[in-house]
Amino acid sequence: MHTYDYDLFTIGAGSGGVRASRFAAQYGARVAVAEAGPLGGTCVNAGCIPKKLMSYAAHYHEDFADAAGFGWSMGEQQFDWATLIANKDKEIARLNGIYAQILTNAKVDIIAGHAQIIDAHTVAVNGKHYRARHILIATGGHPIRPELPGSELGITSDEFFHLPALPRRAVVQGGGYIAVELASILNGLGCQVTLVQRGNQILRSMDADLGHFLIAEMRKKGVEIALDTKIDSITASGESKHVTLSDGRTLDSDCILFATGRKPNVRGLGLENAGVLVSENGAIIVDEHFTTNVDSIYAIGDVIDRVALTPVALAEGMIVAANLFQHGRKLMSYENIATAVFSHPNVATLGMTEARAREKHEHVKIFKSEFKALKHTLSGSTERCLMKMIVDTNTDRVLGMHMVGADAGEIIQGFAVAMQCGVTKAQVDATIGVHPTMAEEFVTMRTAVV
Ligand code: NDP
Repeated sequence: MHTYDYDLFTIGAGSGGVRASRFAAQYGARVAVAEAGPLGGTCVNAGCIPKKLMSYAAHYHEDFADAAGFGWSMGEQQFDWATLIANKDKEIARLNGIYAQILTNAKVDIIAGHAQIIDAHTVAVNGKHYRARHILIATGGHPIRPELPGSELGITSDEFFHLPALPRRAVVQGGGYIAVELASILNGLGCQVTLVQRGNQILRSMDADLGHFLIAEMRKKGVEIALDTKIDSITASGESKHVTLSDGRTLDSDCILFATGRKPNVRGLGLENAGVLVSENGAIIVDEHFTTNVDSIYAIGDVIDRVALTPVALAEGMIVAANLFQHGRKLMSYENIATAVFSHPNVATLGMTEARAREKHEHVKIFKSEFKALKHTLSGSTERCLMKMIVDTNTDRVLGMHMVGADAGEIIQGFAVAMQCGVTKAQVDATIGVHPTMAEEFVTMRTAVV
């Protein structure tokens, strides 16, 4: 007969790990969570939260400019990077404390330190061994740098949030979520930004119209975007860095930011001690119940590299907790996950892209609208908004909804509920709009463009 110190030992106190631990404890399990860094993981410490706070900061730049058309006159505006970083850090410290409180209130033991799996039921932290009936790996991921001469002179999103000063000039490599979000923040705060993307598209996993539209909008706001281009090498001279691009140009820059993807955190975890299998890119392989090839070991969140989003990790964590300690057999659905990119302007996407819909369905109808928001009739801003809906002609079901424009994430969230319920275009059409809003455009698009 085995004796265990814990029913569940979670490695990693990020979004997924904390949620799974808390729910497991509420279901009556004895739970410990080990964390080597601050509580809250990537989302709280080097991702969603600091990014969104800094995105708000960057938006003021255009808010001040927009205000003039409404009769406001302002004195000279000044931005202080140190104040923003200090206030952001204070908020993050507060959230770290809240995470500790949540775990403590749920009677989860927090063990500070790096955890290593010793065998299928044993984890070591700071030299002490803990026996657990189940082990949950929720260690997240980390940003990667491309291999090129001088790449050590660049930074990743991890360092971005702690830069000692706002760079005057920055080169951002990448065309994914992080690249466009951080390029927008830097640009909004007054930095001269060049975004360098290896392909001819940004946000490549999304509907192609979104990336094309966002490129045009970001360029209008002053971001230089070089497509089909890569950084070949970086050299330093004093504080300044010289970037050589694949198109032959050289740029002087104060900051080179790599936003070229992330990798699962599996190093030093001792996976080999228990024989846990990983895929080629290091992601832990799990089945539909998040069980690894070792029966007692589970994994969720960015470390399994399915959908690297906080709300997905939360959902996966709750499923593991319920399945282990509530006799649940719930499965995770990855359908209709709405997501937003906090670029300027924002992007939001839900369901299928047009390309995917055409692959999967015989006939689809595309509804599209591009317009200037009411606010900008007076603000003088040339910002435009894009809304797109994809409908299955045979069933009238809405397959995808996509948007570029202010508060796109706020708008798409409600529609995600409707899509989850299998909304049809006729039902969308029967919905009375809220006037005057941008969101009402989604319920008034009557004529298919294709
Ligand atoms: P992404 O995978 O979204 O984007 C990586 C980008 O880097 C792509 O444009 C890719 O080009 C490019 N790239 C990859 N390798 C190289 C290379 N060797 N040289 C040059 N360019 C390269 O990764 P991110 O790091 O932006 O974000 C990781 C994940 O984190 C996201 O996918 C998302 O799930 C999550 N996230 C979510 C956010 C949100 O919800 N708002 C915010 C931030 C992150 P190509 O397009 O050609 O492949």
